[in-house]
Amino acid sequence: MFHRELTEQVTKELEGIFGSKNVRLDEPTRRAFSLDYSWFSPLLKKSVEHTLCDAVVFAEHTSQIRALLELAHEKRIPVVVRGAGTGNYAQCVPLKGGVVLDITRIKAKIEFEANEVFVEPGVRLGELKSAAEKRALTLRTYPSTYIVSTVSGYIGGGSGGVGSVEFGSLWEGNVSQVVLVTPVKGEILIKGKALLGVIHAAGTTGVATQIGLPLCEKPELVGFVSSFKTLEDSVSFSLELAKTKG
Ligand SMILES: Cc1cc2nc3c(=O)[nH]c(=O)nc-3n(C[C@H](O)[C@H](O)[C@H](O)COP(=O)(O)OP(=O)(O)OC[C@H]3O[C@@H](n4cnc5c(N)ncnc54)[C@H](O)[C@@H]3O)c2cc1C
Repeated sequence: MFHRELTEQVTKELEGIFGSKNVRLDEPTRRAFSLDYSWFSPLLKKSVEHTLCDAVVFAEHTSQIRALLELAHEKRIPVVVRGAGTGNYAQCVPLKGGVVLDITRIKAKIEFEANEVFVEPGVRLGELKSAAEKRALTLRTYPSTYIVSTVSGYIGGGSGGVGSVEFGSLWEGNVSQVVLVTPVKGEILIKGKALLGVIHAAGTTGVATQIGLPLCEKPELVGFVSSFKTLEDSVSFSLELAKTKG
């Protein structure tokens, strides 16, 4: 059975892990962090709008994540990990209450190594793109919400976007590795096919604390406007253009 509410003892333990200023129990905060952009869908909105977590915790170090998962595992408390909360399928909604874990403050590390970058989970994709472009590199794919969305939220809940015509979806070689924290096994380095258990898994298999992404050369972008006689002509042109290199 899951706890429906946190006991005083569990709340104290959370404060011990995160510090009391980083554990929020007030209703406005719990409400704000219990919703994502699923309200875009009238169907999802109806099913999730009354959902409320019991606490929101703001992690500042990856060590706090492991301590939280161990505590939650022992006490059977659900944990929902959250980036910027822009997912639109209710991936961040705490359907069974429990703790919402915000990772947006864990964002210190952005390390480039040849054509790859290793980052902490709360780094915003927009910030990462700008940093890569200073090196004439860029993200292979990114969602339209890239300015605000986090790298780990994109890996956990996204699928693709700009760049996907050329590079495909996230799970088609666009993530090189993830360090995943789980309550039982601790930190695990995930690579290769095993990444399929992490990408688009909505945080159900663990919490990503470090992510490796392959990058590509920054392309020269050219804007233009074209008109076509028929819709079919415009689709054929777009397909041809997408297949053209350079
Ligand atoms: C208008 C609009 C346009 C969008 N366009 C696109 C698009 O083009 N392409 C696309 O793919 N998506 C798109 N999205 C969905 C979403 O914005 C993106 O997928 C975004 O990258 C999610 O990032 P986030 O930080 O907001 O993640 P969140 O919404 O915070 O989280 C998404 C999922 O990842 C999990 N998660 C977060 N952090 C971790 C972690 N550290 N470890 C494990 N799991 C974690 C969460 O639990 C959740 O299940 C769009 C959404 C909107 C509202």
